[in-house]
Amino acid sequence: MRLQQAVKPSREMIEKWINQNVLAGKTDEELEGTLFVYGNEAHSLVKTSSGEWAIEPQEVKQVVIFRKEETEPVNMCRACGQDYTSFKEAIQCCAFLD
Ligand SMILES: [Zn+2]
Repeated sequence: MRLQQAVKPSREMIEKWINQNVLAGKTDEELEGTLFVYGNEAHSLVKTSSGEWAIEPQEVKQVVIFRKEETEPVNMCRACGQDYTSFKEAIQCCAFLD
């Protein structure tokens, strides 16, 4: 069995993340203001006056992320960031089987 990581445009990944987190029961308050970083592109999640989610590009030249190892969730999909209860589920999230 070979796992292959699909390369997706950032917008598709963000939309998938939003859908997964809404389904997971995250509140609007928790989701609003989320910053998505994909390479040197940054987008933030904002709610429009009509109640729709909008993915707004942020003007940045370069993105540098410093992560604290100990706060990193273990069972997280590395492609979209969705949390799972098991590592197996996490690696299957955005992986495609041949
Ligand atoms: Zn995923």
